[in-house]
Amino acid sequence: MAQIRTAAQLTRLVRAIVTAAGAPATHAEIVATSVVDADLTGHESHGVLRIPSLVEAIGKGSLKPAATPFVVHESPSTAVVDGAATFGHVGARVATDLAIQKAGSAGLAGVSLTRVTHAGRIGEWAELGAGHGLITMVAASRAHSTGTLAPYGGRVGAIGTTPTAWAIPRLEGRPPILLDFATSAVAQGKLQLARATGQSVPPGWILDAEGRPTTDVEEFFRGGALLPFGGHKGYALSVITAMLAVGLSGGDLLDPSEHGSCLFIMCVDPEAFRPADQFGRAIEEIAARLKAVPPAEGFDEVLLPGEPEARSRARRSQEGIPVTDATWEALEATARRLGVPVE
Ligand code: NAD
Repeated sequence: MAQIRTAAQLTRLVRAIVTAAGAPATHAEIVATSVVDADLTGHESHGVLRIPSLVEAIGKGSLKPAATPFVVHESPSTAVVDGAATFGHVGARVATDLAIQKAGSAGLAGVSLTRVTHAGRIGEWAELGAGHGLITMVAASRAHSTGTLAPYGGRVGAIGTTPTAWAIPRLEGRPPILLDFATSAVAQGKLQLARATGQSVPPGWILDAEGRPTTDVEEFFRGGALLPFGGHKGYALSVITAMLAVGLSGGDLLDPSEHGSCLFIMCVDPEAFRPADQFGRAIEEIAARLKAVPPAEGFDEVLLPGEPEARSRARRSQEGIPVTDATWEALEATARRLGVPVE
């Protein structure tokens, strides 16, 4: 069962919870905006659902709610940011803002980040750059082995679900083209959902603990692994993504007990290559060509990457966000423990 809450209600509640847990107003605003936007775009797995576990990490002392990310070293077009063990959302925002600023003057810039918690829906950071007219790429990975994703042809997991996001700005304020996904065949949250509902999963998603393909989701939780999407091609993208994120951030030097999310954010100013309006027209021409393709049987229309998120955001901003009872109860319990009133 789900209940409907407005984005404004959820933002107020998350802001109050995160503030009561020790975060300054600026951090609380970033975290609240990020998780609610994940819910707005239809990616509930990275939405308000995450708040109780973040508060738990603050309670354990591993997440520093008031710490400020800082630049370790930089050049006119690069920077390395240490997240100081704070929220991944805050670190990602600081790192992306810096990449945007540097690409504005250098034409192309890259910023890496580590020592933060999970950075949420990483498409948000790609969209942030695109909002400034910049092509933006984000590679994310965990610094140390999570044993979640098995390499193509391998028996056991060795890296995390290793997501990547790319955004391309469009003309006339249209939402950007947005590629944003884990490089695993499916997000881990969907396995939890299949487990909760007792369903089997399609072939090609998981291996059992012996490295054999299986459709029994319980085998994943008994020491199995996720497979990459798209066979050897998705696997190759996982490898590049993990190596960019960990290799350029220095996350490998962290102690495995630290929050080792790693990000590499690259912004490219199209204007450094050709006039922005010419670039924009080239993008719109390709987009229009794709949209004009008649839908195949079983489809209503051809969508561009990013359209599902933009439509969901527009719809849920009007109609509200469905929050499952389990998520709402966990949020309420967290709020109660911190003395935060719930509307
Ligand atoms: P997904 O499988 O839902 O794919 C989403 C992508 O596919 C988007 O770019 C979307 O626009 C595009 N898309 C969907 N349907 C489409 C269609 N019909 N036509 C064209 N494009 C279409 O994504 P996922 O792998 O389940 O990941 C979900 C979220 O989880 C992402 O936001 C990702 O950033 C996040 N994530 C984060 C981490 C982390 O460590 N921070 C780890 C894993 C996943």
